[in-house]
Amino acid sequence: MIIVLKANTPIEKQNQLTDWLKGMHLGVHVSTGEYQTVIGLIGDTTKVDIDLISSLDIVERVTRVSETFKCCNRRFHPEDTVIDVNGVKIGGGNFCVIAGPCSVESEEQIMTVARAVKAAGAGMLRGGAFKPRTSPYDFQGLKAEGLELLRQARKETGLPIVTEIMSVSDLPLFDDIDVLQVGARNMQNFDLLKALGQTDKPILLKRGLANTLKELLMSAEYIMASGNEKVILCERGIRTYSDYMRNTLDLSAVPMLHELSHLPVVVDPSHATGIARMVPPMTLAAVACGCDGLEIEVHNNPTHALSDNAQQLTPDEFAKLCKRIEVVRSVIA
Ligand code: PEP
Ligand code: MN
Repeated sequence: MIIVLKANTPIEKQNQLTDWLKGMHLGVHVSTGEYQTVIGLIGDTTKVDIDLISSLDIVERVTRVSETFKCCNRRFHPEDTVIDVNGVKIGGGNFCVIAGPCSVESEEQIMTVARAVKAAGAGMLRGGAFKPRTSPYDFQGLKAEGLELLRQARKETGLPIVTEIMSVSDLPLFDDIDVLQVGARNMQNFDLLKALGQTDKPILLKRGLANTLKELLMSAEYIMASGNEKVILCERGIRTYSDYMRNTLDLSAVPMLHELSHLPVVVDPSHATGIARMVPPMTLAAVACGCDGLEIEVHNNPTHALSDNAQQLTPDEFAKLCKRIEVVRSVIA
């Protein structure tokens, strides 16, 4: 249920109302916008008397929200959420490119790529240290050593770091990581989502390989309902009938997620296509449909990469793409 307050409602009257609602054992979520304050109620609202609340002099209107996702629902929070990662913002008109290798492989590799993506204009550095691989015989990541190399790259470049967490038991290792990524294969690892909900870290939540938008939003809801509102959604391609491409990039997810939710939406054209030459056109299409950011894989020597070697851009290709991203952004603004 949402309660929209009249403009210029005194804060004391607003607090009286929220205290009363909390007394009914409801979760009360207040979104204070520039023009409107919206109170979202979470829990069993069947006993709430809509007519009584509607009759209060500070209330403009009351409506029931039928969707099962509440905290991430735009109706609870009409304005875009802006997530600030150590001064780098994403969402609400703030655009950010996250770039870096699929896996952190060595000091030389991560430092070279970090310097290159920073010079090209990336706002954050990505790199996997814990890798979810289809085969147990493939490179599984450098783990704690990989995280250490990312810290070193952050120290030199100043770029916040984004890296995947696969298991709740690894959480202590991620204490000073800037953005924790939940990979597609873990989108419905509910214990992991709940544990991340108890941290104050921004979470980059990737859509599962075969998950609907509603399921993606329900996973965001798990994190938010546990107390962490800093969620960034990521469309990274889904399984359909594509035969020549790794996945199908569902770009219509971007405007639909923006309609349904206030959370920032990032697109990952690298995992969506699996082919480096497909990354630039799909990146530009993603920008054109209004995404808040991108996650793009970049490697100093893609053919010899230890994971996802077919889809990573060279630093040169990435730098050229960044210029074209700016051109598209300037025309859609
Ligand atoms: C990744 O970003 O390295 C990754 C494994 O992506 P996804 O979970 O989308 O497959
Ligand atoms: Mn990858």
